[in-house]
Amino acid sequence: MIDMSKRIVKAGTSGRYGARYGVVIRNRVKNIEAQQYSKHECPTCRHKSVKRVSAGIWNCSHCGYKFAAGAYSPKHKKGTVQIME
Ligand SMILES: [Zn+2]
Repeated sequence: MIDMSKRIVKAGTSGRYGARYGVVIRNRVKNIEAQQYSKHECPTCRHKSVKRVSAGIWNCSHCGYKFAAGAYSPKHKKGTVQIME
């Protein structure tokens, strides 16, 4: 059986990550973003400005707070861990 889906596609919504994070995570992000690309409430400033940076990594564009939480939603885990860069 010929699988026509095995084309090499570098772009998609995760194409902006370039070579970072690994192909598995990028593909996971691309697939999930297609279903759940939405903003979430920030745990610190409460603005709906939290977007997923990568699987499990979330960043608030309003206050700059970056944290690790659930892979698909920042509310999938009770606690969040701030990421210092
Ligand atoms: Zn915030």
